[in-house]
Amino acid sequence: MPEVYILRLGHRPERDKRVTTHVALTARAFGAKGIYVSTKDEELERSVRSVVKRFGGDFSISTGVKWKPFLKEFEGTSVHLTMYGTHVDDAMPQVKSKATERMLIVVGAEKVPPEVYQWATFNVGVGNQPHSEVAALAVFLDRFFQGEGLRRDMGGHMKVLPCERGKRVVNDPE
Ligand code: SAM
Repeated sequence: MPEVYILRLGHRPERDKRVTTHVALTARAFGAKGIYVSTKDEELERSVRSVVKRFGGDFSISTGVKWKPFLKEFEGTSVHLTMYGTHVDDAMPQVKSKATERMLIVVGAEKVPPEVYQWATFNVGVGNQPHSEVAALAVFLDRFFQGEGLRRDMGGHMKVLPCERGKRVVNDPE
């Protein structure tokens, strides 16, 4: 299974904390290995690491990443999620055929600089209507991993046991 990382552009700590946290948690839950955020935000790092510590998984977060050299020099297949891109249904077979051991998925916050469209291996639209980076990432990862990301045991000391009603959570910090 390829190792998938996310590059989050344009994060503004005072406005985007919640959405970027959701991008990170969605990435983790749907099978990605880590997230790079272009803006430094230690509080964001702390809150994502706290989920990883409790619920498990091998998921990393780095903030303050210089995204231009990072994306330009990335040595694998990169996918920029954008409403202007090739429809995900049409793009996915090509993305899978060009999958590399390490892959990068780029999502924006506001307008994304033009270099991203040029440097990404693929520009993919999860449909071609404007919606959200969280939704786009979830759908893309779920299609890419064909649901397997959601089925993994993350090995955390907190584990949710699915039930029809109510909440069942095992918490075993030992
Ligand atoms: N109009 C903005 C632009 O020029 O990209 C859209 C910003 S949108 C609020 C934030 C991010 O959500 C985008 O950078 C993109 O990664 C993602 N996004 C929104 N709609 C999408 C779609 N239909 N397909 C793929 N990604 C989408």
